[in-house]
Amino acid sequence: MVISIDSNSGFCFGVTRAIKAAESELEKGSLYCLGDIVHNGQEVARLEMKGLATIDYDDLRTLPSHSRVLLRAHGEPPSTYWIAQQRGIEIIDATCPVVKKLQDRIRACYESHKNDETLPPQIVIYGKPGHAEVIGLQGQTNNTAIVIESVEQLDRIDFTRPIYLFSQTTKSVEGFQALVEKIKSQNSRANNRSNEARKEITNHKSQIALEAHDTICRSVANRVKELQAFARANDIVFFVGGTKSSNAKVLYNHCKEANENTFFVSSPDEVDLSKITNPDAKVGICGATSTPLWLMEAVSERLSAS
Ligand code: SF4
Repeated sequence: MVISIDSNSGFCFGVTRAIKAAESELEKGSLYCLGDIVHNGQEVARLEMKGLATIDYDDLRTLPSHSRVLLRAHGEPPSTYWIAQQRGIEIIDATCPVVKKLQDRIRACYESHKNDETLPPQIVIYGKPGHAEVIGLQGQTNNTAIVIESVEQLDRIDFTRPIYLFSQTTKSVEGFQALVEKIKSQNSRANNRSNEARKEITNHKSQIALEAHDTICRSVANRVKELQAFARANDIVFFVGGTKSSNAKVLYNHCKEANENTFFVSSPDEVDLSKITNPDAKVGICGATSTPLWLMEAVSERLSAS
């Protein structure tokens, strides 16, 4: 069989940067990381072997002062910085610059509209509720943002009020566009209603029904086409990803769309060799933005040894 690893798979810029920061800070002394540094159990374990201790929010509140805590690429809400400051904890901020910029945009939007009393605006985040990045984004709005995952959840939005839509960086472009289209059609329905709400909208100085900000990271979005081309070029594909990674789930589904002989594995042990029925098959290995190259190489070695 011919085995190849997708050269476009693996850590994105933000994750690589956070891991490099962790490795360099570990050389200076003990280091905590708030939450898994990456949604990949094997990579977390590798860094824990080097001394990185993963903690949660409860731990953060009880750490001794002067402890050093790394914030991962996903980013954190303002409350985390506040807790750290209160406790005299040193923050090593490895928030991805792309996420940081998105946080700043959402915060600026919230600050400039929070006092609009005539038609209170709604900040809507297209994202996964409870996801670390989304918690950080919601925090920029004093947790007033509405998080929706799909068009089915749009009934949580009041279409007679202005909507400011943003996206979690790892969501799909198609999903975002579908939301925009649906909101536009609901808005025009709401605007056609001859009631007081409509009058208020018409008279409202901003006249904004929907302001959509496509804030999806192209480091993820651009991978889809390349990944699908790779999947099509192989007879069978093993997609390597962490079970906690939403990016891995999204990219795996795209791979599966392109080649139905795509299988999700978290480690070399999970490779089901019986799936390879043709000894001359072209076998592709790819992964998510949270998948380390060394793990894809380990899957490749397992296949080579079979
Ligand atoms: S996917 Fe994009 S925004 Fe998210 S950590 Fe990676 S580079 Fe940053």
